[in-house]
Parts: sequence; C-alpha cells; structure tokens
Amino acid sequence: MFDELKSAVTHLREVSSRINIDVVAGKDAAALVGIADEIRRAGDSLRTVAVGQVERTNSWKGEGAKSISEWLSIETDCPQYEAQAVVLLANQLKHLPVTQAALRNGTLSNAQAVEVARGAIVAPNTETQLLNLAKHATVRDLRDASSRVVAGATDEAERHRQVHKSRYFKSWTDLDGSFNVRGRMTVANGALVMAALKPIQDEIFKAARKSGEHERPEAYAADALMALCEKASAADSAAGTSQTKTTRPNAVMNIRIDIDALKRGHTEHGEICEIAGVGPIPVAAATEYLGEAFLKLLVIDGTDIRTIAHMGRTIPTKLRTAVEERDRVCQVPTCDVTLGLEIDHIVPFAEGGPASLENLVRLCKRHHLQKTHDGYRLEKIEVETGTERRWAWRSPPDLRDTG
Ligand SMILES: [Zn+2]
Repeated sequence: MFDELKSAVTHLREVSSRINIDVVAGKDAAALVGIADEIRRAGDSLRTVAVGQVERTNSWKGEGAKSISEWLSIETDCPQYEAQAVVLLANQLKHLPVTQAALRNGTLSNAQAVEVARGAIVAPNTETQLLNLAKHATVRDLRDASSRVVAGATDEAERHRQVHKSRYFKSWTDLDGSFNVRGRMTVANGALVMAALKPIQDEIFKAARKSGEHERPEAYAADALMALCEKASAADSAAGTSQTKTTRPNAVMNIRIDIDALKRGHTEHGEICEIAGVGPIPVAAATEYLGEAFLKLLVIDGTDIRTIAHMGRTIPTKLRTAVEERDRVCQVPTCDVTLGLEIDHIVPFAEGGPASLENLVRLCKRHHLQKTHDGYRLEKIEVETGTERRWAWRSPPDLRDTG
C-alpha cells in the first residue's frame, strides 16, 4: 500500500515537473490551481488521520519530542502552531466520523473541516447542518456559523473561563531568523493590550506620516509594542537606581557570542552570536544591548563557555534624565521624531565610548539603527554659542569622500 502511494507521489512529481508554467494559458493556470488544491486536500486529510493514529499508538514517543505536535513539527518541518492545529483536528475527528469521511473524500477542505469540527465537537447535533453549509458557504461564513454554535452550546461565563484557561503567549524564531509571537487570551484582556498599544501606534503613525513614510498599520503596531517594552525597561532601570522599591527583576538577557566574533564585529563560519532561548542576532546588536539591561555576557569559544563576564553599561539615572532633557527630539537634523527616542553612544560602547553627557545623544529608532548597522555617523559642527550642540548626519559615501 505504501509502495503504491510512494509511486503515486513520484508519478505526480514527474507529471507536474513536465508542465512548463510560463506557457500555460491564464484560464488553464486557474484550473491548475484547482487541481493543485485537490492534491493538497488529499495530502492534508491523509496527514491528519495518520497523525490521529500516531497519537493513539503513542508511536511519536521516544524520539526526543515533548509532545506529538512538537514531533510533527520536527518531522514535517511545519511551524508549531500548524502542528498543534493538525493534532487538535485529528483528535476531534475521532468523535466525528462523518466529518472525517468528508475530509478524506475531498468534499471538505482542511480549513472547512477545522470549522465544522470546532462546532460539532461541542454540539454534535449540528454536524450535519455545518457540513451542509460547508458545501456552498465561504470558510468565513462557516467560521461565523461555527462560532455561533459554540456560543449557543456554552454559556458566556464558561466560555470566558475556557478561553482564559487556554491562554498562551508563545515566541519562536523562524527559519529566516525572524522573531515571531503568537498569543491567545480573553477578548477582555486582549482589549487591554490593544488599549495600551493603540495611542502609541497612533503617535508613531502621525510622526511617520509627517516624515512622508507609509507603512502598514501592523508595522506601526509592532513599533508600538517595542516602545511599550522599552518604556517598561527604562522604568525598571530607573526604579533600580532610585529608592523606589520594585518587585520586578531587571531584564536579563543571556547573550552567547564567540570571543573572536565579538572582537571582529561580525560572525564568520559557524560562530555563534545569539540571545539564549530567543535566537541569533547581529554582533552589532549584541554590543548595543550591553548595559541596556543588566547583562550576563557569556563569551564562548566553540561550544565551551570560556568566560562568564558581567558587563554593564548602565547609564546613571541623573545622566539619563539630563540627556532626555537636552535632546527632546531625534538629534539628526531635519528629523522631528519625539517618540521612542533611544540613547546612542556617539563613540560606540564597544569601541570604548564612555557613558558621558558629551558622548550620549538621543536618536529615533530608524536613525539609531542606521548609525549602528549601516555606517551612518553623527559629526559635530562647531558652534559659538555655549552648550548648544549641532550635528551633521553623514551617510557612508560622505564618510568615504572625506576620507
Ligand atoms: Zn531621527
């Protein structure tokens, strides 16, 4: 049976590789999408029921995974959340043979099966009704219907309690090195989150529009989250140096970096520079983090931890306040961003630059990144008047010109 399936897959690959997609007519291409979806449905449904049997027989155990969804994620290179959804559906289908049959014969897509199962599992008498709806309704309509079934079958307080019980906030690093988060919580708590982010997001949006930038609202929401976290960190470090009691510990990041990479400023073949438990970061970012929070810098050579050094670049509160007072806006000429400003070491900390009033300047996030990673520099312009400082913003080619 497996040989038959494997040769079918091989045959499928052969046939599809013969298709020269560039010469396929538009109409045929659309038909091709439909056929490809049929293939996907067949694969998805087989995978789902197979996962159900793997779970029933516990055959995922003993391979180092902590759960069946972790096993599936490793086995098929799919993200954890997708694996969790497959495991959940497989479990529900055990109790919904009609839905399972519809998934297996291709009547239902995976997305439709998820919605039917979600409703039918709490109200089994609605299974037929949801399956009928799936025949002509969009997945979105099906989802709404299923949500209504779930709402009708459980009382509101109970539902809220269930959702709260299943709350989570997860993070993972994707294959492209990006940091991802995914969360679930009650709508009430979610509203609290959005209420905290929204005003900051709006401010960032306004500032961006003023400077002629246009990005997606989601991008500004991410910036708002960063600004909020930075504010929390700053409040913590301020509280830590004053007499204010704080029950929250300072943020500790364990950065693991090869000593040679630290000296060189970037990693080479296989060297490590990462925040333990989060993922790889550029060496420049690692050195920037020094002192942002109380930091344990684990300098490693290969896999052996050679030295454990505690390094701090904490800016004393008084100095921080003075810098904030002096630099109300981003100090790059023509930039008028006032929100989420970051303190930059003009001569980088990694190059021995001190935390002094003279060596510190406030920049917006974008200009800070450009200065840290893209070779931009602030150059002091001499002015006669007392304490006022003026800067020129030099892009990398400018630097080359002046030698
Ligand atoms: Zn700026």
